[in-house]
Amino acid sequence: MVFEGLADKLQNALSKLKSKGKVTEQDLKEVMREVKLALLEADVNFKVVKDFIKTIKERAIGSEVMESLTPGQQIIKIVNEELTTLMGTSQSKLTFSSNPPTVYMLVGLQGVGKTTTAGKLGGYLKKNGKKPLLVAGDVYRPAAIKQLQVVGKQLDIPVFNMGDKVNPVNIAKAGVEHAIKHGNDIVILDTAGRLHIDENLMDELEGIKKEVRPQEIILVVDAMTGQDAVNVAENFNAKLGIDGIILTKLDGDTRGGAALSVRSVTQKPIKFAGMGEKLSDLEPFHPDRMASRILG
Ligand code: GDP
Repeated sequence: MVFEGLADKLQNALSKLKSKGKVTEQDLKEVMREVKLALLEADVNFKVVKDFIKTIKERAIGSEVMESLTPGQQIIKIVNEELTTLMGTSQSKLTFSSNPPTVYMLVGLQGVGKTTTAGKLGGYLKKNGKKPLLVAGDVYRPAAIKQLQVVGKQLDIPVFNMGDKVNPVNIAKAGVEHAIKHGNDIVILDTAGRLHIDENLMDELEGIKKEVRPQEIILVVDAMTGQDAVNVAENFNAKLGIDGIILTKLDGDTRGGAALSVRSVTQKPIKFAGMGEKLSDLEPFHPDRMASRILG
């Protein structure tokens, strides 16, 4: 199950309301205190938690909710709605360029699953009738090019590379030209990840952005890293500007903090979730379904 610890605790707290015929403000306060603790333990951003609890209290108190026949159920419904809103309200789909090829530039720190995700995204788009080209722009990590080639082979998707001695800006540009020449309507650009965000990394990504004008810059973040993932997202968004997020490793024993905070902190949508190591383990991210999975 997704976010097992968090789900257990939230369901536990809310179950106390379920059976009650009447809910007092004190009851609500106590349950919301438990909800708050559960979210903080799941590594959800403090400010996000504070606003979340405040909104739920405001919606519950002073409205018809407390006086209704099933106040507990109404409050649980509000929690579900607010969890959904937190993660983005509705599914945010990829956009396509009216002047193909559509270029998606994948950025992120090393080890988050960027190269794997480039392949997964290619596979997903291929299944949807597109003709993607993978472009190997990670020239710093040893074996990144080879890894992308292996992934491409498994998916039967072409991979463009120029080795690791060429400037990534030129690789990106040549990759797009290659796609035009070979009838690929999608270019998925794998870029270099570093261990930390640094000026050089950002300058280089900025250079690629200027040169190829990607339809979307998609930040790949590792859900297992919790608040760090959110900080990274904030940073990339401030410096480079991102259009969407792919959260990887949601299948692992992540506590949930990244998934629940990253949208609210950056105001950028989570577009996909990586749910495993296999190349087919990529799912469009549905905030409402995720909320329902958490609340059971
Ligand atoms: P990069 O350095 O960002 O390009 O990362 P890689 O693509 O090499 O991935 C790093 C590791 O994370 C690999 O072992 C991948 O199999 C693994 N990985 C990537 N995405 C997921 C995911 O969604 N779930 C799990 N469990 N592992 C993943």
